[in-house]
Amino acid sequence: MSSAPRPAVSVVAPCYNEQDALPEFLRRVGAVLDGLGGASEIVLVDDGSRDRTWDVLAEAAGCDPRVVAVRLMRNHGHQLALTAGLSVCRGERILIIDADLQDPPELLPEMMALMDGADGKGGADVVYGQRRQREGESLFKRATAAAFYRLIARLTDVQIPPDAGDFRLVTRRVLDLLLAMPERHRFIRGMVAWIGGRQVPLVYDRHARVAGESKYPIAKMVRFAADAITSFSVVPLMASMTIGWIMAALGFGFFLYSIVGWWNGHTLPGWTSLMAAVGLLGGMQFLMLGIIGAYLGRLYDQSKGRPLFMIRDIVGGQDGGPK
Ligand code: UDP
Ligand code: MG
Repeated sequence: MSSAPRPAVSVVAPCYNEQDALPEFLRRVGAVLDGLGGASEIVLVDDGSRDRTWDVLAEAAGCDPRVVAVRLMRNHGHQLALTAGLSVCRGERILIIDADLQDPPELLPEMMALMDGADGKGGADVVYGQRRQREGESLFKRATAAAFYRLIARLTDVQIPPDAGDFRLVTRRVLDLLLAMPERHRFIRGMVAWIGGRQVPLVYDRHARVAGESKYPIAKMVRFAADAITSFSVVPLMASMTIGWIMAALGFGFFLYSIVGWWNGHTLPGWTSLMAAVGLLGGMQFLMLGIIGAYLGRLYDQSKGRPLFMIRDIVGGQDGGPK
């Protein structure tokens, strides 16, 4: 760990094929940090991009001493790329933001003020952006996002705020707690919510991307949702118990029915009901096995204890780079 004093603010953004968005991102974030004054840094993580993202980042790090460019060995995905950036950054306060400018960096001063206690309620540990509107995103994306946040709220005890992404300002204390969590399948907004402390929303309008396209196709969205649910809830695992009870009750009903039928002297035709019961039970069992498999797979991944991300290069930053 370097002995240099910490910058007041670190801005951390993961970048995957963002060559077209980055110049505008750097310009706007740079202007916001200029306005704020004091020492700051911009930590940008190239998550194994296949376009010129790394060249853009390395060049920016060469021109602007505030920029720290981190390159991962390969694509690790949004949440792990972000984790890599968070582990490298050194600021007292950390702004987590996407590189596509869907979330306006210009809100930083307001977030800083809220963290200082501008609402008269004694400061905050986390100031998170809460989306009022989402421009330039498909109805499908908005509908699935809304359904997802409602579902996760029902399944978990942690109060994960709806309509909030990872766009947030956190204190060094919260960040250190976050980095101390060893889990591989990271759902960062949920983990930050789980930490607790005073978490304050700041309502804003989410814009369309400045350039490029969403890196979250449906398959990644499903995986993201599965990670979120399995890391914060064992309700699906318990579902087999509930269904087992229901099935047992139904089975007992059937049993009584057949006994009474036998007593009254008529045997049951029964093929259809038998097939229905077999099919239903077989389907249920496979479903439950699948759910158990999902948790087991994550347990297995976790038990391997591999590093969460692998850094190939770090360029820039004062005193020869962080740490
Ligand atoms: N991202 C990343 N690695 C990935 C996918 C995305 O680092 O494998 C970054 C991306 O460059 C962006 C942020 O994560 O800065 C959010 O991704 P995106 O904007 O595509 O998601 P959306 O806003 O559409 O949900
Ligand atoms: Mg985006």
